[in-house]
Amino acid sequence: MKIPEYFGCMVFDDREMKLRLPVEAYERMRKTIEDGRSLDISLANIVAEAMKDWAVERGATHFTHWFQPMTGVTAEKHDAFINPTSDGGVLLEFSGKELVSGESDASSFPSGGLRATFEARGYTAWDPTSYAFIKEKTLCIPTAFCSYGGEALDKKTPLLRSMEALNRQTMRVLKLFGNEDVTSTKACVGPEQEYFLIDRAMFEKRCDLIYTGRTLFGAKPPKRQELSDHYYGIIKPRVAAYMEEVDRELWKLGVSAKTEHNEAAPAQHELAPIFTKTNIACDHNQLTMEVMQRVAKKHGMICLLHEKPFANVSGSGKHNNWSIQTNTGVNLFKPGDTPAENAQFLLFLCAVIQAVDDYADLLRLSVASPSNDHRLGSHEAPPAVVSIFLGTELEEILDAIEKDVPYNAQAQEPLRLGVHTLPKLPRDNTDRNRTSPFAFTGNKFEFRMLGSSDSIACTNIMLNTAVAESLRLYADELEAAEDFDTALHALIRRTVSEHKRIIFSGNGYDEAWVKEATEVRGLPNYPSTPDCVPELTAEKNLALFAQHKIYTPVEAASRRDVILDNYCKVIHIEALTMIDMVRRDILPAISRFSGKLAESGRVKHEFCAIANIDYEFDTVAKLSELAYSIMQQTDLLDKTLEELGGEKDIIALAHAYRARVFAAMEKLRTFVDEAETLTDTADWPYPTYGDLMFSVK
Ligand code: ADP
Ligand code: MG
Repeated sequence: MKIPEYFGCMVFDDREMKLRLPVEAYERMRKTIEDGRSLDISLANIVAEAMKDWAVERGATHFTHWFQPMTGVTAEKHDAFINPTSDGGVLLEFSGKELVSGESDASSFPSGGLRATFEARGYTAWDPTSYAFIKEKTLCIPTAFCSYGGEALDKKTPLLRSMEALNRQTMRVLKLFGNEDVTSTKACVGPEQEYFLIDRAMFEKRCDLIYTGRTLFGAKPPKRQELSDHYYGIIKPRVAAYMEEVDRELWKLGVSAKTEHNEAAPAQHELAPIFTKTNIACDHNQLTMEVMQRVAKKHGMICLLHEKPFANVSGSGKHNNWSIQTNTGVNLFKPGDTPAENAQFLLFLCAVIQAVDDYADLLRLSVASPSNDHRLGSHEAPPAVVSIFLGTELEEILDAIEKDVPYNAQAQEPLRLGVHTLPKLPRDNTDRNRTSPFAFTGNKFEFRMLGSSDSIACTNIMLNTAVAESLRLYADELEAAEDFDTALHALIRRTVSEHKRIIFSGNGYDEAWVKEATEVRGLPNYPSTPDCVPELTAEKNLALFAQHKIYTPVEAASRRDVILDNYCKVIHIEALTMIDMVRRDILPAISRFSGKLAESGRVKHEFCAIANIDYEFDTVAKLSELAYSIMQQTDLLDKTLEELGGEKDIIALAHAYRARVFAAMEKLRTFVDEAETLTDTADWPYPTYGDLMFSVK
């Protein structure tokens, strides 16, 4: 079948609705989707019936409200369509009520104390702007998830709230520029997804990968990404077959997977879809991660989404390409042809600059996780300090506006918005900078701090809300102004002057930058998750959330606690896995091999008194010393875990996990990795880094 024929065949999209709904119902449904209104029950009944018939024709037997709890993955509880009839048979039924809302005992999902188990009911509600789809014989209805009291328990609800907030403020600003034809705007995202593919048989021999998604031990292989021969390299046949099937499966689900290529590290790859509305992009990215993992298994491989599966090898991120588009098809970050268009462009640019400067803490914490902590700031991903890259030309223009001087040698007069035509603005941003956390790339912003396994929801909640706030302040100021052009010019000038500290176009991997950023520019630096996550409930941030109705203080605090609790648990599991591996596999292997060496040295010496047994002797000595250190460090780790059991304050506990448990794990690892380099491969209990990264042909 040709691609256009099967693209979206598993989605109850606009085409299907048009085909299957009575004309009047279809029109009402479309209006509901466009205006973001809620669905009334009479319409819901009609839509549910049509949806069920469509799904059953495609082999579906069950339906589920598909939602995104705070764990970051998706959740689903399947119900069969069957309803008993009085004569002992069944009918396949699906009511409007079942479509629009569901109730589930959700006490096992993290809620950060929002929902005690005695009031464990959670409610799901359809987000009709995201189409229903069929996955594995189940009709999935994308839903939001909240508590009995209406508090959001998921990532979708605040994301939708933030999109609304951004639209509200963007519309105010657009009106000031006279855009009468625009009736709504949408934040759009194209997330580029990185991942590793390894052989399934190798994976299954490593309990660290199985339990934690990353290798907790592993000596450096002789070759990693040094030769840059993997990036954009020829795709191996097994990987190509995999990518082909991933594309096909995603296209059936209406996900427009577009670009596939090899990434920097061996066994690392990337998939990028065509950008779309943020809530849909978020749903699609969750589906993409799921499909990538499922298809890999079919091909005898495992898709690793962890940010840092291998120490000392480039990790995986997810670049969040973001822009605001109007319903008339205009991208507000695309420089225009006329002075008015460019003045508008510059104002939106300023809104982002100010948002990133004022809420750098929120952007930083939106990507915080124990796994992403390995990546940020380790010279392979952006530093933990947030800054913006604009490119030389834009920077020069902003500079000229701020200083009230001519833009370049040819220009005679200072640049004044609304009076002059701005110099031609760069359309295609050629001076690419891969080390910036937040880069303007010609007509969109690329936020590169997000981790590969994370949901894109949190980042976009923060980004949308922070930009909504700059725009709100601008709209307030400009609406009250006597002369729009003068006020606009002054506003842009002032914003550049107040927020230029966040603009940085140099090398973000450079040590000197972190020093300059923090010491000279005063930018915040949060190296780890426990450092930044408590900022979620900082006063200025709670005020922002309240202003735009994103989180109540209780919701914000619950999210903070969920992230920190998860942080502690992940590290705890990693530590236990290490202890288990050391005591049951690694120390016995070292002992076994040392025994063999000692025995062979003894035999050699007995056979020939002058035989040199330095190798055997020295290695046994070194290994026994290492084994001793490994044993001691493991005992220390074990003891530390026990001691932390009494800590009740979640922020203090997270700090302790980082300072004590994580640090002890790192130290333990160095001893084990050294022992690996001295031990016979046949005796080492796990596949090596080389085996893992070069096994897929
Ligand atoms: P790269 O950054 O690797 O050069 P592209 O320019 O092709 O790649 O874009 C990467 C991602 O950015 C894709 O998912 C693409 O759809 C998305 N993208 C492109 N333009 C926009 C835009 N205006 N808004 C949001 N995302 C966009
Ligand atoms: Mg990119």
